[in-house]
Amino acid sequence: MNVPFQDLKTQYRDLKTEIDEAVVRVMDSSAFVLGPAVAEFEQAFASYCKSDNAIAVNSGTSALHLALLAAGIGPGDEVITVPFTFVATVAAIYYTGARPAYVDIDPQSFTMDPSRIEAAITPRTKAILPVHLYGQTADMDPILEIARRRNLRVIEDAAQAHGAEYKGRRAGSMGDMGCFSFYPGKNLGAYGEGGAVTTNNKEYAKTIRMLRDWGSEKKYFHKLQGYNYRMEGIQGAVLRVKLRYIEQWTEARRAHALEYGRLLGPAGVVIPQAKDYARHVYHVYAVRTPHREAWQNALTAAQIQSGIHYPIPVHLQDAYREPEYSEGSFPASESAASEVLSLPMFPEMTNEQIAYVSSVVAAQHAARTIA
Ligand SMILES: *Cc1c(COP(=O)(O)O)cnc(C)c1O
Repeated sequence: MNVPFQDLKTQYRDLKTEIDEAVVRVMDSSAFVLGPAVAEFEQAFASYCKSDNAIAVNSGTSALHLALLAAGIGPGDEVITVPFTFVATVAAIYYTGARPAYVDIDPQSFTMDPSRIEAAITPRTKAILPVHLYGQTADMDPILEIARRRNLRVIEDAAQAHGAEYKGRRAGSMGDMGCFSFYPGKNLGAYGEGGAVTTNNKEYAKTIRMLRDWGSEKKYFHKLQGYNYRMEGIQGAVLRVKLRYIEQWTEARRAHALEYGRLLGPAGVVIPQAKDYARHVYHVYAVRTPHREAWQNALTAAQIQSGIHYPIPVHLQDAYREPEYSEGSFPASESAASEVLSLPMFPEMTNEQIAYVSSVVAAQHAARTIA
């Protein structure tokens, strides 16, 4: 057997007729940038996220950048976030001229530990940027409470959390703004790059709409210094089709996680913990082991693809080193970075594939527990 990390070809084959028709419609209309296909997707995605507005952009990174700008963040400001994330979360903060102030993660959920936020707040702090890593939201109630009390904005990095829920509330609908990525491998993926900002705030929505399109209120009237961050028509059309299937795909991911847990939990493998508050959407299914390299080699030898999300926390990346942070600054993030191993996880997976992957992982665990 051969198990890929994900399988976008099978997904396309299943939806080929619908997707092809939607793409051809865009080409016939020649509305290649923004246009009706994107507008239609924005409406549908806002409603899916239980948010009043969704503004489509050309990547998740652009979504984060514009959300931070709309919140008024710029040079001299600090944004509280976690070092255990994809680098884009932090890059977007630097794009604005602001700097990240890191807090460590909760080692069980891999998301921001709210009990560490207060100590990181300074007079320069403007916002908190929690990351809903792997498809599970951060513990939002205490984050929102601190933000309210200290007058900080909250921007959710929901790039891995389409449809995830916190106590019944959708990712992207709880903070001032939510940022999504539609990179092809994400739970809702375009056929190219894509992203969106969700918000219940009309002013933020208006600002982001202008910023993504050269800061223009109407064509050639530039109110703000903006960007070319527009979504392409074809991506809007593909995403509109795929949005109809996301609940079905999410339920499949959740069922696969349950099946992995049923096979790996009793074998003693450290499996992902879904918090009581969470509807976890399992963008990534990460197990933990101090013997990661050996496990990954065994998986590769068995023709099973795996991944590491992420091997180096951002505060230890060459490009993002800051004098105030070093090895040991964030023990939970650093330990997670050295131990997490992502197993194949995609909606089209079969129980046979899950059983096969689990047998290799359980054998690795058993071998090293006895020895
Ligand atoms: C994918 C991702 C992003 C960036 O999205 P792009 O669409 O690749 O720009 C940001 N944050 C997190 C947590 C991500 O996983």
